[in-house]
Amino acid sequence: PTAPSDTDAPASAALLARARAVTPGGVNSPVRAFRSVGGTPRFMVRGAGPYLTDADGTEYVDLVGSWGPMILGHAHPAVLDAVYDAASRGTSFGTPSENEVALAEEIVARIGPVDQVRLVSSGTEATMSAIRLARGFTGRPLVVKFAGHYHGHVDSLLVAAGSGVATLALPDSAGVPAQMAAETLVLPFNDVEALEAVFAARGDQIACVITEAAAGNMGVVTPQPGFTEALRRVTAEHGALLVTDEVMTGFRCSRAGWWGYEGVDVTPDLMTFGKVMGGGFPAAAFGGRADVMALLAPDGPVYQAGTLSGNPVATAAGLTTLQHCDDAVYARLDEVSRTISAAASSALAAAGVPHRVQHASSMFSVFFREGEVRDYDDARDQDTAAFGRFFHAMLSAGVYLPPSAFECWFVSAAHDDAAVQRILDALPAAAAAAAG
Ligand code: PMP
Repeated sequence: PTAPSDTDAPASAALLARARAVTPGGVNSPVRAFRSVGGTPRFMVRGAGPYLTDADGTEYVDLVGSWGPMILGHAHPAVLDAVYDAASRGTSFGTPSENEVALAEEIVARIGPVDQVRLVSSGTEATMSAIRLARGFTGRPLVVKFAGHYHGHVDSLLVAAGSGVATLALPDSAGVPAQMAAETLVLPFNDVEALEAVFAARGDQIACVITEAAAGNMGVVTPQPGFTEALRRVTAEHGALLVTDEVMTGFRCSRAGWWGYEGVDVTPDLMTFGKVMGGGFPAAAFGGRADVMALLAPDGPVYQAGTLSGNPVATAAGLTTLQHCDDAVYARLDEVSRTISAAASSALAAAGVPHRVQHASSMFSVFFREGEVRDYDDARDQDTAAFGRFFHAMLSAGVYLPPSAFECWFVSAAHDDAAVQRILDALPAAAAAAAG
């Protein structure tokens, strides 16, 4: 990909040099490194509403939103007040506290299938714990996942994973023992026949199927009509649990998530959440059926714990964020997402760039290929070099897109008309750059 020179961002380049001396790749999460698009990752110094400002003082309209949490925009005044207020009373107790109860109540009230919820600090912990619980409940070892779905960097779920693993085009992660990978059965998404075949062969050994409720980590790929229903039917027939990962979709696709979005009506056994429910702080959760959750320690034999779980500052930020996620917020997310995706599509069409836009409610992504994307093979079959040129043209025009063709574009309710206009203004030249 075209890598603009570091002279575009000298302060970020200097910080990257310092960072590389002490941190692998200079980043604390791989996609931040701009490896697939080239160029200098921007070190941000502030966020306000829909904008980010980097170390060189350049302002960008942000379409990453910290990869999902910043649904109300950066530095939302009510969230900041809640954070200051909570922090002034102590930042961690290692005891139960009321904010945790209130956040759990808010989640249970919004998500029908969740009777009980346990708070953790990252989406990775949420899916790891849900898998352990499913294995503990069923007494079975195997887990079914879908290629291109990302559930955090849990050993057994890093097989054929999306997100950064897809961005870096890694086959799988080193460091995951073969025996562990062998307990994960990977299927193509949206393939009911493959699902039925794997259950016919090994159904009595399968603890659970875990699926992104609507996939966002290979770009946005929704379940085909009937697919989630098939997951529910087949798992139930074989005594396995259905775990839907709503770390990305939860509280974003609707006030509940993908579950609760129009026409989505399948009740999973367990669900995982993160991102929005932490309001920009480390908070995540897993929850579901009361009889399954009852197996968790201290009531049951499945162990799970965390020093910072239910942290009072994180829960204050998350609770306040959810309390502000009302109908007006979801209407605005929808409007902004439709406007931007339609404009991106017409700009690319005008420049003759093959592309495909896919939505899961207000989540959307642009694939640099033609035709419907139904699974990971489809998603990988795109022109990532064209995306790289598009990305850098947008960046130069002051729009911060996810630095990968395999990630979705995150809008916020703080994207006002001025911010949206900046994006629309940047699109035609970026589409021309993508055309090469
Ligand atoms: N599940 C899904 C669907 C995700 O999108 C992510 C993060 N992108 C995770 C799990 C992992 O969450 P975290 O990065 O907080 O560990």
